Amino acid sequence: MRAFNFCAGPAALPTEVLQRAASELADYQNTGISIMEMSHRGRLFQAVLASAKKNLRQLMAIPDDYDILFMQGGATSQFSLVPMNLLSGAGQAAYITTGMWSKKALSHASKLGNVVEYASTLDTQFTSVPSPEEALVNGQYDYLHYTPNETIGGVRFPYTPETNVPLVADFSSSILSEPIDVSKFGLIYAGAQKNIGPAGLVVVIVKRDLLQRSPTELADVWSYRSVSDANSMVNTPPTYSIYLANLVFEWLLEQGGVAAMAAINQRKAAALYHAIDSSSFYSNPVTLPARSLMNIPFTLADAALNDVFLAEAESAGLHSLAGHRSVGGMRASIYNAVPESAVTALVDFMAQFERRYG
Ligand SMILES: *Cc1c(COP(=O)(O)O)cnc(C)c1O
Repeated sequence: MRAFNFCAGPAALPTEVLQRAASELADYQNTGISIMEMSHRGRLFQAVLASAKKNLRQLMAIPDDYDILFMQGGATSQFSLVPMNLLSGAGQAAYITTGMWSKKALSHASKLGNVVEYASTLDTQFTSVPSPEEALVNGQYDYLHYTPNETIGGVRFPYTPETNVPLVADFSSSILSEPIDVSKFGLIYAGAQKNIGPAGLVVVIVKRDLLQRSPTELADVWSYRSVSDANSMVNTPPTYSIYLANLVFEWLLEQGGVAAMAAINQRKAAALYHAIDSSSFYSNPVTLPARSLMNIPFTLADAALNDVFLAEAESAGLHSLAGHRSVGGMRASIYNAVPESAVTALVDFMAQFERRYG
């Protein structure tokens, strides 16, 4: 019996993936050994790694002049690794801030070099994104960093910023949720625990010409160039996490790929926003064009009912709907692995709760 899980991260994984992992946990392909217990340099794990790269390349249509790296330390490690690797030309980078995660990326980078907050929507309490004109960066920067989907505020860029410098994006909470044109980016990173797999793993998609920027004195485990040269095996990689990520990639391909997921994600988000907007009991503060498809925060007209809402939701099998501790209220994270039936159940519960308490 699986609950409907709206956790922002670590988030729901597809039930089929968990069942498959369970079925081969103790005995991987008739070896009598778990995939977790075998050499990362052996034939079987090498096949998993190659398959994960091939499947992700297919899912995202990643061009050949990009490499895929599997690293550790979560998305937060990339807040520092991006400047450590890329801030070696002009010595200056531009950041767009639209919420908590992009603020954090900026603050971690500012310890390591010269970074400029080029555009920000703080003046709207991070309920919007800058206009394409405000986000247009033409200048002497090593890169432009932004966060396409702010997981906490539920704010999404409906466009890709135009720039003459390499575009770096923290796609942690929206990777694989809708098609993107990878060729517009210099580097994409995503912590795995939202839309890919177990926490700790971070996927980096990097244009190969940027690999030359990694300073030679940088430790190999932190150097994009060294990690790329070593095929993500400078040291023992997180083998089980990569294996699980690959099961998720295979599952996505079986569902019809990212375009098919995007259609489902649009329907899920539309149903939930409709429930919020058609009621005066629920509200969402984000401007319409910037609303996230993955993370939907909402508040109740009477905040005193928050705890009752969460407790009754939990009893109804709807888990982890509490908003981020910094903002309160509710948040439904509806990543790829959250089925449409979960959103339907939530919408029904919200209507019924409003009838009783509204
Ligand atoms: C969750 C998240 C992070 C942090 O990920 P960790 O793996 O905990 O470091 C960073 N950026 C975004 C957009 C996120 O959603």
